[in-house]
Amino acid sequence: MSDLLQLSAVDARAALDAKEITATELTQSYLDAAVQTEALNNYVQLTHDKALEMAAASDARLRAGTAGPLEGIPVGVKDLFCTEGVETTACSAILKGFVPPYESTVTSKLWADGAVMLGKLNCDEFAMGSANETSVFGPAVNPWSQSDGPDLAAGGSSGGSASAVAAQSALLATGTDTGGSIRQPAAFCGVVGMKPTYGRCSRWGIVAFASSLDQAGPFARTVADSALMFSSMAGFDAKDSTSTNSPLPDLASAMAAGVKGMKIGIPVEYQRDGMDPAITKLWEQGQAWLTDAGAEMVPISLPHTAYALPCYYIIAPAEASSNLARYDGVRYGQRIEEGGTLDDMYEASRAAGFGEEVQRRIMIGTYALSAGYYDAYYLKAQKVRRLIRNDFDAAFAGVDAILTPATPSAAFPLGVKQDDPITMFLNDVFTVPANLAGIPGMSVPAGLSSDGLPLGLQVLAGAFYEDKMYQVAKVIETQSGFSGAPQRAAGRAHS
Ligand code: GLN
Repeated sequence: MSDLLQLSAVDARAALDAKEITATELTQSYLDAAVQTEALNNYVQLTHDKALEMAAASDARLRAGTAGPLEGIPVGVKDLFCTEGVETTACSAILKGFVPPYESTVTSKLWADGAVMLGKLNCDEFAMGSANETSVFGPAVNPWSQSDGPDLAAGGSSGGSASAVAAQSALLATGTDTGGSIRQPAAFCGVVGMKPTYGRCSRWGIVAFASSLDQAGPFARTVADSALMFSSMAGFDAKDSTSTNSPLPDLASAMAAGVKGMKIGIPVEYQRDGMDPAITKLWEQGQAWLTDAGAEMVPISLPHTAYALPCYYIIAPAEASSNLARYDGVRYGQRIEEGGTLDDMYEASRAAGFGEEVQRRIMIGTYALSAGYYDAYYLKAQKVRRLIRNDFDAAFAGVDAILTPATPSAAFPLGVKQDDPITMFLNDVFTVPANLAGIPGMSVPAGLSSDGLPLGLQVLAGAFYEDKMYQVAKVIETQSGFSGAPQRAAGRAHS
């Protein structure tokens, strides 16, 4: 059965249509794989019975000739997406026991297209973190960890999604990206992670972190699978006031087109001191691949890059402090009665329900928004955000896409950065600007570090030009010949 796990979603879809395999067989293989790789802690809940029911319905539609574009494809869902009747915790104690009475728009769209839900995936608490270590369920583990070495971070916040797709315990997975939470874990685990243009995927029914930055996106093992899943997730939704209805570009043609004649921007500011030399080398290699394929490399400047992280770490906590005010022990999840007054109850519930990192963000955000500090911090950060957006607008006037490293390092061992929020925040240095500017970004696995760990290249494009991004990503995938074969993947665990 383990060879079923090797199929890409595109190939599995064709095999289902050709009646070579059934959705039930495919789903069963993934459920078995998830159990077999349980030690990676990437699922917080396996929805075994629901998965098999959905697979049986898929098989019926396949037989009836009414199959959808994702019919029978097993998908894992980050535990930040509300799933009707299935506990949704955002990996926080405060939401334990919360069973949403509705389904998020993005996951509804996946099920409407025939996808099968495998279960809920681990993530950082309220998506705040870069190593999945703030989860109340403990961290997801990177399947590239060697059996005789330390457990490595899968990245975060969508660590469970990246770990499961790499470990072959999910064929596809949903993620969310506020400052890098899809692209950084994808790079760490050697899979393809894509953050769409802000507004492409509805935020309705996704637990909010920082609403002006949050965006859902796909995790996949190949660029074509990523495009397939994205096409299903995206689309206008009247229930999200920031949803856009500009039509999705033709990704299939883009992926077939090659990059001949394209101009690719190489931002000088992304060459950082102290960066792993393997990453600099891979970045140069990526430029060589694209040049060989007929693209022209153009040095560009994004002068406000250095301000992106400080700006993000004002705006994101400010929005989070406002979004998280709703967890008051009254309407959702855990309530701790102590002291006798309503305020005492709020305080006790929030103190017990939120982990340390979430409390830190709430405090930073509340401070930045308070009278007297608002102008100095929040308003200033908003102005800087505009300058960062302007940098990209100016750059995209002259180039079709931008190529950068995805992360400043490969996956690090779990635990090493836990006590140092600043080094943890530095993980997002290459990914945060895209969220601030609202543009799409994609991390494509392209090579290995000196320790044999995956490294990703990031492709950025102008808002609503995901096609150009996929165009470049496809060439990188082909040229790099990267093959994801982590030691602790399900397909390999018994060999
Ligand atoms: N690592 C970043 C943070 O901790 C980004 C998280 C995200 O994109 N959700 O805020």
